[in-house]
Amino acid sequence: MQFVLEPLPYSENALEPHLSAETLRLHHGKHHAGYVKKLEKLLRDEPQAKQSLEQIVKTSTGHVFDNAAQIWNHDFLWRSMSPDGGGEPRGELASAIARSFGSTDAFRKAFHEAAESHFGSGWAWLVLDGKELRITTTSDADLPLRHDQTALVTLDLWEHAYYVDYRNEKERYVSAFLEHLIHWDFAAANLAGLKRR
Ligand code: FE
Repeated sequence: MQFVLEPLPYSENALEPHLSAETLRLHHGKHHAGYVKKLEKLLRDEPQAKQSLEQIVKTSTGHVFDNAAQIWNHDFLWRSMSPDGGGEPRGELASAIARSFGSTDAFRKAFHEAAESHFGSGWAWLVLDGKELRITTTSDADLPLRHDQTALVTLDLWEHAYYVDYRNEKERYVSAFLEHLIHWDFAAANLAGLKRR
């Protein structure tokens, strides 16, 4: 199959002032695009290239895994944010968050702590683990798919995700995500097992 750089689901400046057009241009157009190019190069003439991205993510190792997983993670990241994000979850998702964390405020506090304290490059996730919602972080390109968990929403913790806008102030980046960008409807659709962009 051809590996594609999925377009952003909104314009480059749509997440301003919380994430700048410059950040999205670099992050999507250079970093995310770079993983696509590298995977194409690694799998040129390999039988694996015929597999779906998800199959490759589930079964590969080394550089192939790193680049394939980073494509999956970034496709998921862009949909985890919205120009109309933030606010409160609704319906089934709100009930599930209340059951697992006590309240949405308690979820935000726990997600913030997990994201801020994660050491080095990686990702913060809200996942469905069995019947429970959980907050996890993964290192480098690792992702819930490799841990029998279903991802609901994610935040990129690599410095390239926030350094242009927030420099070393990672806590402000995480707060902006939780207050203004998190796309609850995307998380709710994933919880419901629906495919939605
Ligand atoms: Fe990234």
